[in-house]
Formats: sequence, C-alpha cells, structure tokens
Amino acid sequence: MSIKTINPATNKVIKSFEEMTDSTVDSAVGKAVKAFDDWKHTSYEVRAKLLHKVASLMRAKKESLAQMITLEMGKLIAQAEGEIMLSADIFDYYATHGATFLADKVLTPEHGTALIRYSPIGVLFGVEPWNFPFYQVARFAAPNIMIGNTILVKHASLVPQCGIAIEELFLEAGSPKGLYTNLLISGKRASALVSDKRIKGVSLTGSEAAGASLASEAGKYLKKSVLELGGSDAFIILEDADIDKTVDWAVVGRINNNGECCIASKRFIAVEAIADEFLKKFTDKMALLKVGDPMHKDTDLGPLSSEAAAVQIVEQIDRAVKGGAKIILGGKRVDSEGAFVQPTILTNIESDNPVYYEELFGPVATFYRVKDEQAAIELANDSPFGLGGSIFTQDIPRGERIANQIDTGMVFINHPTWTQADLPFGGTKGSGYGRELSELGIDEFVNKKLIRVS
Ligand code: NAP
Repeated sequence: MSIKTINPATNKVIKSFEEMTDSTVDSAVGKAVKAFDDWKHTSYEVRAKLLHKVASLMRAKKESLAQMITLEMGKLIAQAEGEIMLSADIFDYYATHGATFLADKVLTPEHGTALIRYSPIGVLFGVEPWNFPFYQVARFAAPNIMIGNTILVKHASLVPQCGIAIEELFLEAGSPKGLYTNLLISGKRASALVSDKRIKGVSLTGSEAAGASLASEAGKYLKKSVLELGGSDAFIILEDADIDKTVDWAVVGRINNNGECCIASKRFIAVEAIADEFLKKFTDKMALLKVGDPMHKDTDLGPLSSEAAAVQIVEQIDRAVKGGAKIILGGKRVDSEGAFVQPTILTNIESDNPVYYEELFGPVATFYRVKDEQAAIELANDSPFGLGGSIFTQDIPRGERIANQIDTGMVFINHPTWTQADLPFGGTKGSGYGRELSELGIDEFVNKKLIRVS
C-alpha cells in the first residue's frame, strides 16, 4: 500500500490506506458527471452558500485540521493553522466575488451587439501536492465549483487523511454527492485517468515530471490543462536595501513551510557592496533557528515531509559540494529520528555545478555575489524556472524597473514571493502555465461563449 500517513517527525507509519480500485474510480467519475448535470443549473447564490459553509466549517475545525497537516507532512503547527485560515479565505473569496467575475461581458463590436457568457465545462480532475494540503486544493476547487464544474481530486499519497477530510467538509456543508470527490489513487495511475472522455480538464500542482506526464496525456486528448510546477526564486539584495529587514525576510522566505515551498526564496543574489554584510547577518540568523517537533509552538524549523525528501536534499548538498560549492552553514541531517535537515547555506556555486539549475526543496539557501544590478538580473533569469522572485531596495521605482526584466510570473518588492486569495498565482518557463487565485483563477476551465445579435 503506497498511500500512508507517516509522521515525518518520527518516520513512524501511523495509518495505511487501500487504493481505490479501477471500478470504484470509474463509478466516481460517473457520479461526478451526474452531479454536473444538476450543479450546472444551480444559481450563483446556491454555489456561494456552499462555499461559504465550507469556509466556516474549516475555520471551526482549524485546530484539528491543522494537527492533521502537521502529522502528515511536518508543517509547523502555527503555519498549518495559517494554511487553514488562508484556505477558508479562498473559499469565501470566490463565494463573494464569483458572480461578479462570471457576469456577462458586454462587447462593443463594429456591427451588431454581442456579449461573452461564461458557462462551466464539466468534470475536472485535479492532482495536488502534499506541501499545502488544504490551500492547493482550495485554489483549484473554489473557483471551479463557483463556475459550476464538478471536481475529482487525486491528493498526494503522503496526505491521505487531509484528502479525505476535505471531501468530508464538503459533504458536511451540504454538497451534493459527486460534486467534490477525493480519489485515493497513486500518482502512477493519475495520468491514465486523463483519457476518460467524461473528464474535460486537468490541473496539476507538483513536479515538472508529473506535470509533463499529465499534460502530455491532456494534449493527446485535446483537453485544457493548468500546471503549477517547481520554482527556484531569486531573492535580489541591492546596495540600498534595508539590510536588517531584508535578512529577516530572507530567513522567512527560505524556511517557511520547512523550506518546502514552490515560491520559497532559494537563490540569494547580493550585489558586491552589501554582500558580506548580508551573508554574515543571514548566516547568524539561520544558525539560531530551533529545529524540532513541528507540533511545538516554539519550533522554528520542522522535519521535511518525508524521509525520501530528506535523503534527496542531502544528496543534492553532497553533489553541490563535489561540484565546488562551499558549505557556510549546516549541510547535514540532524542527529535524531525523523526527516530533519540542518538549516544550510551554500556558496561558490558556479553554472557548471550540478545543482545550479536544480530546485532545492528544503531549508537550503544558495548564495551568490554579483558585481551589480545588471548581473543580478542576468543570474536571476538564468534558471529553467520562472515562478516568482523578489527584489530588496528602498528605491521602489528602481525595484519596479528591475521587476520588468525578471522572467517570472510573479515579482515581489521588499517581500519574498507570497500568496493571498485576491492575487494571481502562477509561473512561466518550467514553472508551468495558467493562473490560480484572483479573478484570473476563475478564467481557466470555463467556456467563454460569444453571443452575437445582428
Ligand atoms: P510530485 O511528486 O509531482 O507530486 C505531486 C502530485 O502529482 C501528487 O499527487 C503525486 O501523486 C502526483 N504524481 C506523481 N507522479 C505523477 C505522474 N506521473 N502523473 C500524474 N500525477 C503524478 O511533486 P511533490 O514532490 O509532491 O511536490 C513538490 C513539487 O511541487 C516541487 O517541485 C514544488 O515546487 C512543486 N509545487 C509547485 C507549486 C506551484 O504552485 N507552482 C506549489 C506547490 C508545489 P503521489 O503522491 O501519489 O505520487
């Protein structure tokens, strides 16, 4: 059984789950189609009421849901509570604004009158990762249920209890059966489902390999896909940055979610004039982090999500060092049970180092010293990824000018890349395509039908 709750703080198996059989999955798809036939005729008021109810149930169960997240993937408990609140905000956001976003758009063509009318497209299949088990699902499910689509979710095998809990929240909120279905299947079986004629669109958040697998199937069957993949965000520090505030954000940007964030700050790029001061202060703060049990409120850094994740990142550190990198801080497993890795800073990474173009998914910062602003921009863009990035400067017009030259889907000035319900989220290059959240997030799986009157 590949679907298990394993507490990464101890590496002990808590519970194993049987995968659904093909015939159970087939029947779940059938129920989602049946639910769509009804749901597409419901009013926006009915849909909004359901989404608001899901949000209020999430808030009411915040503590127990957060404990489930922390147990299954090791997120610090306070951050897990924050994730539940953010997810509830996303459900409320689409419930409140969805009808406005989806209202007819009147056009002013040269001849006749015309409008665009939004309508749902059918059953959607979402494949979600373990790193934000509620938030990732919220940003896919909330806008699409508001549109009138129905949802099948294959959640990551590391977080089965979270996946089940989300489906239960929908049912408790009064959702019709088949509107939201959790599919307990492994990643290996996910792509095969795309060929099912009854599924009209697919969305995946996860690695490039999984994204390529799912999207190539979607392409083969001419289905729309949205991909939110990896990232290696640059964090640019200019000579006029407020250094102490910048260092505080650098630590948060790197270790939030134990470093397992697609939008984590991963490559710290400082211009020469400020590089020594930044590196010293950053190293001092990273060294003070308290590593330990993620259920304890005073822990700063918990375990990685799994033993495999810890093994992988230490293997990347070792390869980086063999390729010429220097360890300034950490670099090893913590000497205890569980998937713990020391806060780590690597320098002297040249472009021929094997990890130069890789994503480091854990508490491992890479530090680069560059001559000037132009060199910082060039290094930031020298990545297969294009998710987010940040620029630290007290000169905001300068920050905006640099932002124009950064080839990513999101750039933040004086803040690490971040997320909230009303800001669009998504990347360019190897980080995928399409957008989630904000008005843009309701625009992906919808038929924008032209109605023209002569
Ligand atoms: P992953 O291995 O790709 O898993 C993500 C999901 O895809 C899981 O549900 C997984 O199922 C499934 N999956 C695995 N192989 C598949 C395949 N061949 N076909 C279809 N589905 C498949 O990624 P991860 O290691 O869990 O997550 C880390 C990655 O996600 C990082 O690269 C991170 O940057 C990225 N991420 C991106 C965003 C974003 O918004 N851009 C947000 C969060 C994370 P199983 O668990 O059953 O294998």
